[in-house]
Amino acid sequence: MSLIDPPTSTPLLRATGLTKAFGAHEVLKGIDLDVKRGEVVALIGPSGSGKTTVLRSLNGLETPDAGVLSFDGGPVVDFANRGDRRSAERSRLALRDRSAMVFQHHNLFPHMTVLQNVMEGPVQVKGVPKPQAEEEALALLGRVGLADKRDSYPFQLSGGQQQRVGIVRALALKPDLLLFDEPTSALDPELVGEVLSVISELVAEGWTMVIVTHELGFARQVADEVLFMDDGVVVERGAPSQVFTAPVHERTRRFLDRIL
Ligand code: ADP
Repeated sequence: MSLIDPPTSTPLLRATGLTKAFGAHEVLKGIDLDVKRGEVVALIGPSGSGKTTVLRSLNGLETPDAGVLSFDGGPVVDFANRGDRRSAERSRLALRDRSAMVFQHHNLFPHMTVLQNVMEGPVQVKGVPKPQAEEEALALLGRVGLADKRDSYPFQLSGGQQQRVGIVRALALKPDLLLFDEPTSALDPELVGEVLSVISELVAEGWTMVIVTHELGFARQVADEVLFMDDGVVVERGAPSQVFTAPVHERTRRFLDRIL
């Protein structure tokens, strides 16, 4: 799990006061979140509580109405005061550069092979030369047991294999932070284990992650901190041993009683 981090160290990611409304619907009502380097943070809570919106806000896929994000103490993005459009766009890209997202539905390009899918980000976004991108992509595919699928198309893979390619595609960007949005919830139950075991290996390697998941047993096993969200707020946060076995808030208790 997490590497020892002195309490005074700057978090890798700090989000404060994130708010977001879709029309009249306030989806995030002031979310604070710190993620230290090497730490795994799990976001749990009922459907519609705002977990995915938090995750998407962390890498610029969603733009909060207000709040501040900083990485390693900077760059700082202040959503309430984004200045001119050009600097807003620069901030958004700076954010996106620091993290990589693994989606619920793998979002692989259907017309590209596995290898092309993995190389696409490094080559197109980061400007990595193709031979280097290919070498790195093949090494990563080998690590998740999919080197022999390099020339397959996504439709030729099982759901679990597709999602493992989705994870490799995120790793290929060499992000500081991995964001997982319910990475197993679209999978048949028998395919969940292979994806969770890849994520567990990444945890063991010390990757920094935020995971939105309904797999509470898994969250309990790998997370350093669990945040329980309901209706756009973080109701409770703490070590998994505390949140899962001795939740303080009634709302957390009700949610866990329903699920566990
Ligand atoms: P969770 O991940 O906890 O299920 P979400 O962050 O996906 O919750 O969604 C929170 C709420 O915001 C839901 O009510 C959802 O319908 C709404 N929502 C999310 N994205 C949009 C959007 N682009 N437009 C309108 N409503 C949205």
